[in-house]
Amino acid sequence: MEKVIEGIYFIPGRDEMIPDSHVYILGESHSRDLSMLDVGLMGRGDEKLDHIEQGGIRLEDIKRIILTHTHFDHIGCIKEIIAGLPDAEIWVHQIEGDYLERGDEKIIHGNEMFAGFIRSQYGVKDGFYQLSVHRKLSEGDVLEIGGLSWEVLHIPGHSAGGIGLYNPKNKVLIPGDTVYADYNIGRFDLYSADGNQLRHSLERLSQLEAEILLPGHNRILKEGARESIRETLVRWKQYLG
Ligand SMILES: [Zn+2]
Ligand SMILES: [Zn+2]
Repeated sequence: MEKVIEGIYFIPGRDEMIPDSHVYILGESHSRDLSMLDVGLMGRGDEKLDHIEQGGIRLEDIKRIILTHTHFDHIGCIKEIIAGLPDAEIWVHQIEGDYLERGDEKIIHGNEMFAGFIRSQYGVKDGFYQLSVHRKLSEGDVLEIGGLSWEVLHIPGHSAGGIGLYNPKNKVLIPGDTVYADYNIGRFDLYSADGNQLRHSLERLSQLEAEILLPGHNRILKEGARESIRETLVRWKQYLG
């Protein structure tokens, strides 16, 4: 677990045939009001919890799991995490929260090919990811958690209920899979994705005063986030409708 700045810790994903999302732990450790942002691929829960404990964080201080979106590589091990954090709440954008509550796994799987692969490779039965959501997030919500303030940005395009979290004070942006730090963007061919919406979301993110970019995969950036997103938009917008 790597400290990005005070109150933000980074656990890199370890990809298999399917990627494993990065996990971020948000909140100043003395606050005892920490959040786990995304959990990662199925089978990786215990490993993630070990990293957190080895980093000196008490598991009981993690009060909630926030999901940037509910693709399998971000939500996969959530039941393992819930087993280790039984009192933690689940916070997710309203749209994908509704899918989770009614056990509709189309966004989790993304398409029929992945659904088949996940069922056979991981033995996941239909309905496995039906979950209660404690808080459904919306555009404009401000989360005052763990001594930091985060604005919730609804940034659809990669998936219908994708969110970003933005901390203006420290100029930190956590965009999920909407944009990466290597001039790439999230795919926009899966269920509920939309290239035109993704372009709008990227345009929006490119307006933010952001230095630190903490995406769902690949490298992170500790400075120059805004310039990176702008360049990414220039490279991709012709493909986004
Ligand atoms: Zn991902
Ligand atoms: Zn994704």
